[in-house]
Amino acid sequence: MTTDVLTVQQVSKKFLPNIIALESASLNVRAGEVHCLLGANGAGKSTLLKIIAGAFRPTDGSLLLDGKPVELHSPAQAARLGISMIYQELDLVPQLTVEQNLFLGHAPGRFGLINHRERRERAAAALKRVGAHFKPEARVETLSVANQQLTAIARSLTMDAKIIIMDEPSASLNETELESVFRVIRELVRQGVAILYVSHRLGELREIGDRVTVLRGGRTIETFDVKSTGDSALVEAIIGKQRSLIERK
Ligand code: ATP
Repeated sequence: MTTDVLTVQQVSKKFLPNIIALESASLNVRAGEVHCLLGANGAGKSTLLKIIAGAFRPTDGSLLLDGKPVELHSPAQAARLGISMIYQELDLVPQLTVEQNLFLGHAPGRFGLINHRERRERAAAALKRVGAHFKPEARVETLSVANQQLTAIARSLTMDAKIIIMDEPSASLNETELESVFRVIRELVRQGVAILYVSHRLGELREIGDRVTVLRGGRTIETFDVKSTGDSALVEAIIGKQRSLIERK
C-alpha cells in the first residue's frame, strides 16, 4: 500500500495587491516516489514549494503530513516535521566544512544538543547514504557543484527528512553530474523517502519522475503517471489546449 506523506488540499495564495499566485491547488506526494511539479514561468511552483516548506502561509486551504493536518509557521518547524527544502542556490556556506554545513539551520532542540561523536556519526551516515566520496572535513568551496548538491541532500538526511523538495537541481549541473544526483535520488526513494522535484525539462522528468502534477495559472491542472503519459498531453496541460492548438497551426 502506498502512503501519502504530504497532501496539499485546495491551497490558495494571494499577494498584495490582488495577485493570485495559487488558486485551490491540490496534490499528494507518496512515500517512495519522485513527484514532479511542472509549469511555465509564473505558474505558481515556487509559491507552492515555499508554502510546503513553511516559508509562506497559505491564504486558504490546508496541508496534511502523514494524513494529519499541519500548520507550518516557519521553515525550521517544517524541517522538524521532516519537510526539507533544497533551494537552487543550495544555501551552503562555502567557507565552512561539509560537516559544519550538514548541521547548519538545524532547529534548536532537535539535534542542537547532540555531542561531537553523535554529530560525526550522523554526518557519516548521511554522507554514506548519498554515496559521497569527499570527506566531512572538506571545505564546501573546494567541492564540485554536484558534490555540493550531494551535501545539501545529506543535510536533509541529517534532519531525518521524509520529504525532500528539490527546486530545479539540474539548473547548474552537467549531464554526468545530474546522473550522479539521480542515482542518489533513486536510492533514497527506494528507502522510502519522498521527493518533490521541480523542473521545466520533460526529458529529466521522464528519467526520474514517477508522477507529475502540472500547474498552470496557479491551478493544479492534473496529476499524471509519467510512464503512461505522452509529451503532447503534458505540453497541453502546461500551456493550455487553446494555446497549444494555435501554436500547432
Ligand atoms: P518561475 O518558474 O518563473 O520561478 P513559478 O512557477 O515558480 O515561476 P511563482 O514564482 O510562484 O511562479 O509566481 C506565481 C505568481 O505569483 C507570479 O505572477 C508572480 O509574479 C507572483 N508572485 C510570486 N511571489 C510574489 C510576491 N512575493 N509578491 C507578489 N507577487 C508574487
